[in-house]
Amino acid sequence: MTKAKQSIRKICEYCGKEFDAWKITTRCCSDYCNKRAYKQAKRKKIIETAETITANKRTEKVKTDMSNRKGFSIAEVAVLLGCCKQTIYNLAHSEKIKAIRISRRMTIIPQKSIDEFLEVNTPYEILPAQERKPVSDWYTLLEITEKYGIKYRRLRDIINSENIPEKKDGKITLIAKNRIDTYFRKQGYDETIQNLSEWVTLPEFREQYSMTEPAAYSFLSENRIPKKQRNGRRYYSKLHIDKVKNKGQ
Ligand SMILES: [Zn+2]
Repeated sequence: MTKAKQSIRKICEYCGKEFDAWKITTRCCSDYCNKRAYKQAKRKKIIETAETITANKRTEKVKTDMSNRKGFSIAEVAVLLGCCKQTIYNLAHSEKIKAIRISRRMTIIPQKSIDEFLEVNTPYEILPAQERKPVSDWYTLLEITEKYGIKYRRLRDIINSENIPEKKDGKITLIAKNRIDTYFRKQGYDETIQNLSEWVTLPEFREQYSMTEPAAYSFLSENRIPKKQRNGRRYYSKLHIDKVKNKGQ
């Protein structure tokens, strides 16, 4: 078999002429074409490498230009985070991303705000099945502010940024009950404790546990103690405070 090899009809990769090759791997008709083809391929390779380097440098330059920037527009942040502008507006409005309004028509978001947002943002979680059920129960705005002890303005921000369904019943605004409850459950509000009859003010709380003001504030926020506003005073849930304090002993 070694000597009686059959030739293969091929087309020279350099000059395009047909020729008989004796090996499958032969690509050119002659030594001349072979050398030329090799040089051509080498040249092509050098050009390609140079082009890749240029492209990489160009990308790096854009990245550097962006990373040197101290702040971005809403539209730029939307591109950076891969979401729509409205989402960024909502995040800025609900203060999840700290934005700076520099004029009536221009809001900028500092690089630092974006970094902070990405660091503290809640990790991905599968929504509880309940949340995907059709909305059948509704709260009035007043019911929510009373139950969760928040101000109307804060509630409006939550409804907007979380896209919580709402509807009008005559003049009354109704808000999807299960969406609101899910939101506050995620915020650490414990629904298993239904009767929040006892509330304490900050001075009362500090006195009971002999705490400094900064220590008291950090305890209340770290443990997400429910609070409510009544007649201009802020009250904290005694049940929740005691629950945490007892656990710690
Ligand atoms: Zn040739």
